[in-house]
Amino acid sequence: MPESTQRVNYASNDKQSIGRRYQESHPTYRNQYQRDRDRIIHSAAFRRLEYKTQVFVNHEGDLFRTRLTHSLEVAQIARSVARELQLHEDLTEAIALAHDLGHTPFGHAGQTALNNCMQDSGGFEHNIQSLRVIDKLEQKYAEFDGLNLMFETREGVLKHCSKFNAGNLGDVGQRFLHKKQASLEAQLTDFSDEIAYNNHDIDDGIRYGLISINDLLKIELFRKQYDVVNKQYPGLDEKKLIHEIIRRMINVMVVDLIDTSRQNIANARLDSIEDIRNQAQRLMAFSEQMNAKKHELKQFLRKNLYQHYRVHRMSKKAADVIEALFNAFINDLKILPTEALQHCQTLKEKHGDAGITRGISDYIAGMTDRYAIVEYERIFNPRQLSFVNLHP
Ligand code: MG
Repeated sequence: MPESTQRVNYASNDKQSIGRRYQESHPTYRNQYQRDRDRIIHSAAFRRLEYKTQVFVNHEGDLFRTRLTHSLEVAQIARSVARELQLHEDLTEAIALAHDLGHTPFGHAGQTALNNCMQDSGGFEHNIQSLRVIDKLEQKYAEFDGLNLMFETREGVLKHCSKFNAGNLGDVGQRFLHKKQASLEAQLTDFSDEIAYNNHDIDDGIRYGLISINDLLKIELFRKQYDVVNKQYPGLDEKKLIHEIIRRMINVMVVDLIDTSRQNIANARLDSIEDIRNQAQRLMAFSEQMNAKKHELKQFLRKNLYQHYRVHRMSKKAADVIEALFNAFINDLKILPTEALQHCQTLKEKHGDAGITRGISDYIAGMTDRYAIVEYERIFNPRQLSFVNLHP
């Protein structure tokens, strides 16, 4: 039986795990977290990430990040951190690849719109939806719904959660009720997510012409690396310049995360995984100086990129599509495709009318950007009033 690769006693370990919700035999040549990672990669939800928006709608250009390439970048950063801190790389990779599986089409605009639609039915939250995808919605295995992943992978996917929702989520909800921490692998993946999107959004934002190098020079994290690159390679062409700056920014943030967290871990004198869970605060952390610089960068991106009128127009249209689809389905369930309708009816048997709205929410959340747009066209565009167009 393959051994887990961790080398410190506070790294997650499949032998000490609570394990899976449904008992299964141990894989022959993999550890349990490798199996989780492989199940995630083979899931339908993972393939859909290719056509879901990160910030820019998927069809706007082939070079922009999608949820899929974002998830790969997160996994790449997270694995480097895990290896250096001697934590479980396979678990880290599994969490990173699964962390965005529950995202709606059209990024945060889509999530906000769906949450508004679901206000009277428990709301919509993408972390909880990611858990729902891996626990329930994937239909691949004969003996259970979902992917039946290990406890540590599932808790890593559920990054945040309100106390109210935590009460309904069983074992992975407990830590929010009892103020316990998640594994270090889960913590570091969360930070890696932030490092990935802060940096690739700069790259995408420049490519899209929404922000410029000149604007970014106001930001310390960027300016410092700009000066380093400019001094070493004066007159470098802009494409290379941007990449040389961003790769250094990622490196500075990763190194800060590793150094600060390593110090925190040493100070805490950990002896077991339980010691991590019982800490008052997360041990993975950026330094205070890095937190301040990161805050400055995030403020900049919020104001100049995420709230840019061109992004806002896209978000507005995306929200209209989600809302229109939701209302159309609620008003007439018979326009739902057969499989989605069956899903709603199954949920209705268990949860009454709330089951129907949750089923519609699952259907919409699972859509890719382009599927949502096509579905909207099929339902609302009178020029598509032909049997061929109405039935894909
Ligand atoms: Mg993410």
